[in-house]
Amino acid sequence: MTYPNTQLFINGEWKDAADGRTLAVFNPATGKEIGRVAQAGKADLDKALEAAQKGFETWRDMTAAERSKIMRRAADLMRQRAGDIASLLTQEQGKPLVEAKGEAMAAADIIEWFAEEGFRVYGRIVPSRASLAVRQMVLKDPVGPVAAFTPWNFPINQVVRKVGAALAAGCSMLVKAAEETPAAPAELIRAFADAGIPPGVLGLVYGNPAEISSYLIPHPVIRKITFTGSTPVGKQLAAMAGQHMKRVTMELGGHAPVIIAEDVDVALAVKAAAGAKFRNAGQVCISPTRFLVHESIRNEFATALAKHAQGLQVGDGMSEGTQMGPLANPRRVTAMAEFTRDALERGATLLSGGDRIGDTGNFWQPTILTDVPKDAKVFNEEPFGPMAAIRSFNTLDEAITEANRLPFGLAGYAFTRSLKNADLLARRVEVGMLWINMPAMPSAEMPFGGVKDSGYGSEGGPEAIEAYLNVRSVAVMNV
Ligand code: NAD
Repeated sequence: MTYPNTQLFINGEWKDAADGRTLAVFNPATGKEIGRVAQAGKADLDKALEAAQKGFETWRDMTAAERSKIMRRAADLMRQRAGDIASLLTQEQGKPLVEAKGEAMAAADIIEWFAEEGFRVYGRIVPSRASLAVRQMVLKDPVGPVAAFTPWNFPINQVVRKVGAALAAGCSMLVKAAEETPAAPAELIRAFADAGIPPGVLGLVYGNPAEISSYLIPHPVIRKITFTGSTPVGKQLAAMAGQHMKRVTMELGGHAPVIIAEDVDVALAVKAAAGAKFRNAGQVCISPTRFLVHESIRNEFATALAKHAQGLQVGDGMSEGTQMGPLANPRRVTAMAEFTRDALERGATLLSGGDRIGDTGNFWQPTILTDVPKDAKVFNEEPFGPMAAIRSFNTLDEAITEANRLPFGLAGYAFTRSLKNADLLARRVEVGMLWINMPAMPSAEMPFGGVKDSGYGSEGGPEAIEAYLNVRSVAVMNV
């Protein structure tokens, strides 16, 4: 599919920015400009806000059954169009076509699950302690128009988790998706538009992220903010929302520990961890990053992981057989070089990769570092790239202490055959999501979110819908 220019979606219409401004979009595999994206200014945002308010009033007053019907139609369209959407996603973001198609198909599953769950926004009746004539009700209402800010690593998935939950709750949503990857999220919004969503219920804008967030967050129409991205930006946006008493969901960075106990099947642990590590070239907030391996199997594990990394086929995501694509933007290549340089300078050993591939596009070799000192940058800051850093431990307590040392708490992984170890890890590792003896398996029905500096709120399960609801008490005396 030819890569298009991406427009704004305001009040049910696709349009250019009022002042005609656009930004360039690049293919990370070639470095070439492939299209433009409209850059919204204040006039566009004002129109989008007015539409979001009207859209909210329409959507709020529809039944869960009516909403669900439109959402299911959008899910069907995503499935029908997944092949074409995947091609756009790969061209702008770089991930292999098979991963891109998986993301579009998964979006359909997420929409459908929320369409169902929208039927279960229950209140309750609470017996009155004063009188039988009093009927006390707990009501749950949609919070109102929401502003959503999403990043470039999963351009569809990061939007659909927010959109699905907000629509199921009865909210309207104005999305500011990532300027670097605009066409794929536009296709998601198009699926809803073509499914018959009323004007204003969903809006889509692009532009200068800081300008847009500082205009939308304080704006009286917006009642809730949801952001996925880095911890420093999340803290800024949450602080701004706090000043204006706006509800917030924050899905921020992580630095996932992978604890590999001495009793594991090493081959199984390598297979599961490596698959998760190099998916989307490691640009995943739940990517395994800090590998803590029992001393007795450290060499065996590190050697096997390095062998896997060396065997990966790295290339343009559009080419048959590619297992890992380029990094999504040149900033990540610079970051990988800096993480590698710092780790080697501090005494780490390079087992595989560690360098850029060629000088066209943003390709980086799958990189395995072992004996990495605790003070190395890669053991403290999220690498967000195809890089695994390994350290050894002697006791499980030592590994848990290291896992919990950083301020992040998004995802964690562990491999052990011992039920006692698994139970201890489940209780002690401070993360929002822990996968034991398996790669990450997020789904619409399970909570998705972090603790500590990785944010608050959930983007899965019934908890995701709760985040878009106000809880109110109403009591009626039967006179
Ligand atoms: P960044 O911190 O500049 O941006 C992260 C995201 O936030 C981008 O989508 C950006 O458009 C948006 N953003 C930045 N400033 C904003 C503002 N003032 N208002 C609204 N949105 C704003 O970093 P980056 O170079 O794009 O990404 C690098 C880091 O971001 C990674 O190292 C990773 O830690 C984090 N990240 C996390 C996720 C995630 O899934 N949690 C996704 C993408 C990036």
